[in-house]
Amino acid sequence: MRNKPIIIAGAGIGGLSAACLLAARGEEVLLIERQAAPGGKMRHINIDGALIDGGPTVFTMRYIFDAIFAEAGTTLEAELGLKPLSVLARHSWGHGAELDLFADLKQSADAIAQFAGPDEANHFLSFQAESRRVFNALKKPFIESQRPTPFSLATSSGISGMLELMRINPFETLWSAVSRHFKDPRLRQLYGRYATYCGSSPFEAVATLMLIAHVEQDGVWSVEGGMHAVARAFERVFLRLGGTIRYGLSVSDVELHHGSVSAIATSESERIECSDLIINADVNAVASGLFGPSVQHAARAVPAKARSLSAITWAAHLTTHGFPLEHHNVFFSSDYKKEFDELATGYPSDPTVYICAQDRTEKVDGPERLLILVNSPANGDDAPQAHQKIEMAMRLKLAHCGLKIDWDDTRIVTTPPSGFADLFPATGGAIYGRASHGWLASFQRAAAKTKIPGLYLAGGSAHPGPGVPMAAMSGRLAAESLMVQRVSTRKFHRGAITGGISMR
Ligand SMILES: Cc1cc2nc3c(=O)[nH]c(=O)nc-3n(C[C@H](O)[C@H](O)[C@H](O)COP(=O)(O)OP(=O)(O)OC[C@H]3O[C@@H](n4cnc5c(N)ncnc54)[C@H](O)[C@@H]3O)c2cc1C
Repeated sequence: MRNKPIIIAGAGIGGLSAACLLAARGEEVLLIERQAAPGGKMRHINIDGALIDGGPTVFTMRYIFDAIFAEAGTTLEAELGLKPLSVLARHSWGHGAELDLFADLKQSADAIAQFAGPDEANHFLSFQAESRRVFNALKKPFIESQRPTPFSLATSSGISGMLELMRINPFETLWSAVSRHFKDPRLRQLYGRYATYCGSSPFEAVATLMLIAHVEQDGVWSVEGGMHAVARAFERVFLRLGGTIRYGLSVSDVELHHGSVSAIATSESERIECSDLIINADVNAVASGLFGPSVQHAARAVPAKARSLSAITWAAHLTTHGFPLEHHNVFFSSDYKKEFDELATGYPSDPTVYICAQDRTEKVDGPERLLILVNSPANGDDAPQAHQKIEMAMRLKLAHCGLKIDWDDTRIVTTPPSGFADLFPATGGAIYGRASHGWLASFQRAAAKTKIPGLYLAGGSAHPGPGVPMAAMSGRLAAESLMVQRVSTRKFHRGAITGGISMR
């Protein structure tokens, strides 16, 4: 196997980080991507030459990227222009009810005191402290661990870690946790919304998702050139390390030899031998047989009812007035419970609308780049849904909050759940893999190492979960798992060859 490359199927952030880490360790890596560009969900949409982020927009947990780039012999600063945002997000409920959260904790507490009273400002500080504790308790034994189980979580944390873990109620929902902290329904809604970062409902998601509040408080950056520039930076570093990329090609089948991965077949009917294969597609693509029957059983299928949310997005290059947009903006629905009840079967009648106004770090004059997003059910593989009604509801919500947009349909690209389903096969448009509903959900995500020797999984649908930093972490876990396997196999061979007697 020594002269055969490691193949990575998919140049999403999980595949790209695994590719860079393995190439940095001197491995020969061939990255195969079905689209014409890297990034997967982290894509650009071109409207009249304006390149608009069509996927992730919030860049957090930069320490994960710092570490990968350091191992690849460079730095994040050398590869990317990053600017810390002082306003994390602007939130609006209409009729002038607006609240900004800031990178500075005290500034946020002051804003909350003005918005909802001094008691709620204190509740905010205790909520942030709890979310920091949850993050610290889960960072090593869960996020950075290869295959966490409830048992390993408890035993690998050390005494102090175990004490922190014992303070986490695994059966509490995020909604109940935010309701425990906040009295103001608007603040419950604001912090409950973090469940949607994993495509989940705050009424069913585990309370541990409150750790996202700490992650954002720890820093949100805007990326020069948009989030797609992150993918391009990884691509550049990988090529510099001697890696090879082939775009516009799919891995369509996997060949096993004595039960181990030995070759792949492509959409161009090529057969390419490999030592190992990392699949960065959604794990459900493997379970659905899109990588062939020999590996189908390596991943557990995600039933439609366990899917995370999808979204309908409108990438637009338009002029706005009235509401002073920040980089990240949220316009809330009037009844969050009703919104999530409706999301179980279709588009909500009164949606919460998120807008990324990526030009807002600079002065805006004229049309600006916008990504407008509304959560949607992952039913993109059902009969096509009409989306005029949800588009009207989105426009009404923005107008209600005072944001006027000079709508021009020729400068808008709409991606409904069926669009995400086409881009990411076997997902139904689910953006974040399995929903984080119930305490067991986090342990049901696929581990990096599968039961098929030489086959690994990386990406937002695998452990530790979705989001750009988590998917990058899963790429690291896949690369590390592969290297550990390689070293142990190498040791075994060496022992057997010298003198014919195995030393092990
Ligand atoms: C609208 C939207 C907003 C989001 N907002 C945020 C945010 O603000 N912050 C955040 O952190 N995260 C956000 N996310 C989630 C984040 O984008 C994802 O969790 C993350 O990018 C997933 O990365 P991945 O490694 O799973 O790869 P993916 O991005 O899923 O890419 C997988 C790649 O594999 C390729 N592929 C699939 N099958 C094959 C095959 N057979 N052969 C070859 N290639 C194949 C695909 O073409 C694709 O390029 C958002 C996502 C979306 C869609």
